[in-house]
Amino acid sequence: MNKNMVYYSTRGGDGPVTASEAVLKGLAKDGGLFVPSWIPCFESSIEEMSKMDYRELAYEVMRLYLTDYTEEELKACIDGAYDDKFDTEEIVPLAKVGSEYYLELFHGSTIAFKDMALSILPHLMVTAARKQGLDKEIVILTATSGDTGKAALAGFAGVPGTRIMVYYPEDGVSEIQKLQMITQKESNTCVTSIKGNFDDAQSGVKRLFANETLREDAAAAGFQFSSANSINIGRLVPQIVYYVYAYTRLVAAGEIEDGQEVNVTVPTGNFGNILAAWLAKEMGLPIKKLVCASNENKVLTDFFRSGNYDRRRSFILTSSPSMDILISSNLERLLYWLCGSDAEQTAKMMNQLTMLGSYQITDEMRRSIPEFYADFATEAEVTETISACADKYGYVMDPHTAVAAAVSHKYQAQTGDVTPMLIASTASPYKFPASVLNAVGEQTGDADWKIMMNKLCAVSGVVIPRAVTDLYEAPICHRNNCAPEEMEATVRAFLGL
Ligand SMILES: *Cc1c(COP(=O)(O)O)cnc(C)c1O
Repeated sequence: MNKNMVYYSTRGGDGPVTASEAVLKGLAKDGGLFVPSWIPCFESSIEEMSKMDYRELAYEVMRLYLTDYTEEELKACIDGAYDDKFDTEEIVPLAKVGSEYYLELFHGSTIAFKDMALSILPHLMVTAARKQGLDKEIVILTATSGDTGKAALAGFAGVPGTRIMVYYPEDGVSEIQKLQMITQKESNTCVTSIKGNFDDAQSGVKRLFANETLREDAAAAGFQFSSANSINIGRLVPQIVYYVYAYTRLVAAGEIEDGQEVNVTVPTGNFGNILAAWLAKEMGLPIKKLVCASNENKVLTDFFRSGNYDRRRSFILTSSPSMDILISSNLERLLYWLCGSDAEQTAKMMNQLTMLGSYQITDEMRRSIPEFYADFATEAEVTETISACADKYGYVMDPHTAVAAAVSHKYQAQTGDVTPMLIASTASPYKFPASVLNAVGEQTGDADWKIMMNKLCAVSGVVIPRAVTDLYEAPICHRNNCAPEEMEATVRAFLGL
C-alpha cells in the first residue's frame, strides 16, 4: 500500500494538494511549480523491473508519485498512451552506436520526445477531472512555435472530455510543422494561424486565460480552460520511466552489470527531461553523472559552472530550436530541492530572475550537486558530430541529439571517464531534414520536402516514419487565420458561446 503523496508549490503558496489536483491545476496559484513532498525509492529490484515491458514499468514507476490514482485508473491512462501510436513495440528503443547507447525517444506520433509525456497527459487530466468531480469538458489552449503544438494536438485528439485549440504564427513555423498541425482531423481540435510572430500568439493565449468574462461564459456552457505546458507534474513523472527502462534493458541485454553505474547526457532546454533523469537517480537508479548539454543558448552551462543564472543575453536561433530557451522553467524544482525544500528562498531567487534577470545560488548549494556536468555545443560542432557519426557508423541523428553527442564527447575527453554513456535522443532526423542533409554534405537548396525525405532515407537507411508519410496525402482540415485581437472570437466560435 502506498503512502499518500502530496504536492506543494516550490514557492510555498499552494498545497498540500493530491497528485490529481496538481495535474489538473498545472501551475500552482502562486506561480510556483508543484513538487512531491518526498522523492520515493523504487519498490522493485532492477532484476524485477528488467522483466517488465514498457507499460508495466510505467505503472511501477508512476504509481509511486500519482498515489491518488487507483491501479485501474493509472493502468488505463498508460494503456491509452503507449499503444500503437508508437511505431515500435519497445516504445523507446536503444541504439548502440560505437561504445554509446542512444535512447530513441522519438517513436511517437510527432517523432519527437514531447510525445513521451504528451501522449499520457490528456488521459491523466481527464481522469483527474473525473476524480475531482469536475463536470466540465477540458479545453486546452496552446500557443506554439511548432513542436509542442503538434505533440499536444496528437495527444488530445479524440480524447473524450477534452478539446484543444492551437495557435501558431503564420510565418513562424516550418512547412512540415504547419502541415502536421493543419491536417489534424479529429473534431475536438481547432488550429488557427495568427497574423504575427510567436510572441503575439503567446501573449494572445495569456490574454485568453486572463479573460474573466470568457472564462465565465465558457463555464456556463460546461467548459474549463487548461494548459498542457511542460511544467505540469503530469508531464514530468512519465519522463522518469524511460530512464529506468533504458537501464534495465542494458542489464537484460548483458551490456552492463546489475548495479553498474552509467552516465546520462540530455540535450536540454526547459530542464524537464534532465530533471526526470535526476529523479530516476534519486529514486535509486545507478546513474553517476548527468551531463546537461546546451546549444549556443548556454545559460545552463554558465549556471552550473558559476552558480549564477543570468538570462540577460541575446537569444540565438540555432538548428536545435526546441532548445533555444533562456528561461529553463523546470530548474526551479531542482533549486527548491537543493536549498532543502526552502520555498521562501526559491521564491526569492525566482523573483530576482523576474525583476533583475539573474540570481546566484550559494556555494553550499552548488557543492551539493556534483553529479551535474554542463557544457554546450556550437553550430559547427553540431554539424561535425552529425557528419562524423554518419560517416563512421552510418547512424544519422538530428541536431538536438547531436548537441548531446558533442557534449558527451567533450565530457569524456575532459575527464577520461569511461563509464557507459546513455544519450537521450530527442528527435528523429526526419523532423529536421534540411539541417541533417546539409550536415552530411547533401545540397538541399529549396528542394521540395518530399524529395528531402527520400534523400534522407537513402542517406540514413532508416525507413521514412509513418508520421511523415501520413502527411503526403492528408487533407487539410484547418484554414482559420486571424489577428491576435480576434482570438477570443475563435474560442467562442469553436465552443459555440
Ligand atoms: C523539448 C525538446 C528538448 C528539450 O527538452 P527539455 O525537457 O525542455 O529540456 C530537446 N530536444 C527536443 C527535440 C525537444 O523537443
